[in-house]
Amino acid sequence: MTRWLAEYAWLPEHAEPTPDVLIEAEDGRITAVAPLTGGGRPTAGVEVLRDAARLPGLTLPGLANAHSHAFHRALRGRTHGGRGDFWSWRDVMYDVAGRLDPDSYLALARAAYAEMALAGVTCVGEFHYLHHGPGGQPYDDPNAMSAALVEAAAQAGIRLTLLDTAYLTASVDGAPLQGPQRRFGDGDALRWAARVDAYRPENGHARLGAAIHSVRAVPAEQLATVAGWADRNGVPLHVHLSEQPAENDACRAVHGCTPTRLLADHGALGPHTTAIHATHPTSADVTLLGESRTRVCLCPTTERDLADGIGPARRLAEAGSPVSLGSDSHAVIDLFEEARAVELDERLRTRKRGHFTAAELLAAATVGGHAALGWGDAGRLAVGDRADLVTVRLDTARTAGVPPVGAFFAATAADVSHVVVDGKQVVADGRHLTVDVPAELRAAIAAVTA
Ligand SMILES: [Zn+2]
Repeated sequence: MTRWLAEYAWLPEHAEPTPDVLIEAEDGRITAVAPLTGGGRPTAGVEVLRDAARLPGLTLPGLANAHSHAFHRALRGRTHGGRGDFWSWRDVMYDVAGRLDPDSYLALARAAYAEMALAGVTCVGEFHYLHHGPGGQPYDDPNAMSAALVEAAAQAGIRLTLLDTAYLTASVDGAPLQGPQRRFGDGDALRWAARVDAYRPENGHARLGAAIHSVRAVPAEQLATVAGWADRNGVPLHVHLSEQPAENDACRAVHGCTPTRLLADHGALGPHTTAIHATHPTSADVTLLGESRTRVCLCPTTERDLADGIGPARRLAEAGSPVSLGSDSHAVIDLFEEARAVELDERLRTRKRGHFTAAELLAAATVGGHAALGWGDAGRLAVGDRADLVTVRLDTARTAGVPPVGAFFAATAADVSHVVVDGKQVVADGRHLTVDVPAELRAAIAAVTA
């Protein structure tokens, strides 16, 4: 039994944090959540408070980063040459992708996931498409790159959903993969499924999911193969959707419909599907996504870095699509920044304030993301849920004087002090307990960049 006494804790369905909450956990699960004021009592009497570890600040449930490409962490700050257009970004991305092997991928992902742990991320969804060796030649173990990611998350101390991604063609009209893209491809969706079927993460910290890279990368007649595989295996299905208008235009030109309509017609939408970005849906697309209860994962810091645009977050949520968040290209790894950007970008777009409550932003960063990744028992400070605790200091230069309910509009990843994942402490006093994060990031990035 482990006990903590949180100065403030944000409990499920509460509009704002509650002061003085005793939290107990055993075998990685929360066994008691007891506010000490307002009638609550610790299960073993007040004397247990003596051995409860104090958590000064605001304690949140674990944050879920629902969309990650771990190797993009090596691109941070390197894609702005000249003025930094989309092509300068993609050239560096392909260059790094071309250099990785299972060992360097493990080192880079371990450092990136440890940075996430420092930021309060307890679970990551890795949208993984770098499957094969140079030229597309499979490794002796065709899932060696998957295994590297699963091991990286274990070493960084966080959970992972490996969203094994089908990436088969270079464009909507079926052009073959070229150059570094050839490492992404399995040939066709049946061969993708055969490779994925041959791999299951061994350790309880990782689960499998499926992904369609985009309607550009999986031919229409093969979408149902990937969606059906996810459905049969009862795992989440993720897909990049309408990130840029060019994707919509190309899909209309080839298929006569939007990417959302194409996915709907091939059975790829529904409550187990998460659409990544959904930046440029039509009104009919928003209705299709909402009525099918398809989830949406917004990645505002990447969408701004890549000049994608601002998605209709409020309209998607109101249509029926639960919202989650991802740091995607890792230009920034800070779920507080992603969360407040959902509200602040809507303000810029509409020139009106007040679209999402703080509790809705918290839900997107926690329970919404965990649900999108297939962990329905995480993301809430509630009895029976996984014991994930993320404590944010309220006494830093950024957060001093801020009321706890305002944390999502003031705190940064650097204000996270303590992180517990499945009952195990991973971060204490702002330090990762097993990984020297800056040193490992520096070394891992140097190894795969020119
Ligand atoms: Zn992405």
